[in-house]
Amino acid sequence: MKSAPFDYAIPNSLGEALEILAKNDPDEVKILAGGQSLMPLLNMRLARPELLLDLGGIADLDYIRETEAGVAIGAMTTKRAVEISELIRSQHPLFLESTLAIGHPPIRNRGTVGGSMVQADPASEYPAVALALGAEFSVVGPAGERTIAAEDFFLTYLTTSLEPGEILTEVRIPRLPEGSGWAFQELARRHGDFAIVGAIVVLALEADVIVDPRIVIFGAEDRAIRIPEAEALLTGARIADEVFDEVSARVAAAIEDPLADTHASEEYRRELAGVLSGRALREAAERVGS
Ligand SMILES: Cc1cc2nc3c(=O)[nH]c(=O)nc-3n(C[C@H](O)[C@H](O)[C@H](O)COP(=O)(O)OP(=O)(O)OC[C@H]3O[C@@H](n4cnc5c(N)ncnc54)[C@H](O)[C@@H]3O)c2cc1C
Repeated sequence: MKSAPFDYAIPNSLGEALEILAKNDPDEVKILAGGQSLMPLLNMRLARPELLLDLGGIADLDYIRETEAGVAIGAMTTKRAVEISELIRSQHPLFLESTLAIGHPPIRNRGTVGGSMVQADPASEYPAVALALGAEFSVVGPAGERTIAAEDFFLTYLTTSLEPGEILTEVRIPRLPEGSGWAFQELARRHGDFAIVGAIVVLALEADVIVDPRIVIFGAEDRAIRIPEAEALLTGARIADEVFDEVSARVAAAIEDPLADTHASEEYRRELAGVLSGRALREAAERVGS
């Protein structure tokens, strides 16, 4: 099947893109990044925009820069650029590991960091990493610029808090404090497939007790979610198998409304959230201090 007809614009600056948006009904415009999710939707006629606004001509949205707090990534930066970035390799290994789990080289060559964030697929790795690391998003639109914390960005299945006509321009990811432990675990049918369920754990140790833990589960509910009740149980605890067993049981219990599809039932996803968080807790604990 082929897409319904649409007009096409490829501005070469953000200002030009905003002018085009201002002249059109934002509900009738679709922003095109790498096209890896949007093109199939167009071809299946699940999206029928009047205008496709291609950000591919805006070179200013393609960069990876070190900042005082961590790294700033332009929305049009491809996953391949993340994969080969020395800065990401040396300072953001969790982000690198999650990138390598996304699709296959041709997908990562075209798919962008911003596109994955805005697509907000519940099984996608990037929104989960953004939550685990406390990322921030810069967006610009008819009402000007604003910053949205990852916690407020992902609302539900394929839905973010972007308003019509807003463009995501930058994702900022803070560096983990030195000596933090982290782990990324996912189960997919084949490497590169969307996760059935995934778990990310980040933690640090102070005087032998766990501080500032973050536990994120993706693929289990309508969006990637943190599990505050499990994080509370972990805070102040010592590294011990009994603690991790109790915390992972709490993670499974916190999956209230699991997804179900041909790949996995609700019960399987809930169980998997517990199992994978247990593995991630142990792996993160092994990395602490290293
Ligand atoms: C075979 C295959 C396997 C895949 N496997 C995985 C996987 O394992 N994990 C995973 O996470 N993803 C996977 N993907 C999806 C892939 O990562 C896409 O690249 C990603 O979902 C969208 O990025 P994109 O740049 O292609 O965006 P597009 O498809 O161009 O756009 C996606 C959506 O975001 C909007 N958008 C894009 N950029 C902006 C912006 N800057 N501002 C505002 N709105 C914007 C678009 O309007 C559209 O609604 C897979 C895709 C394929 C085809």
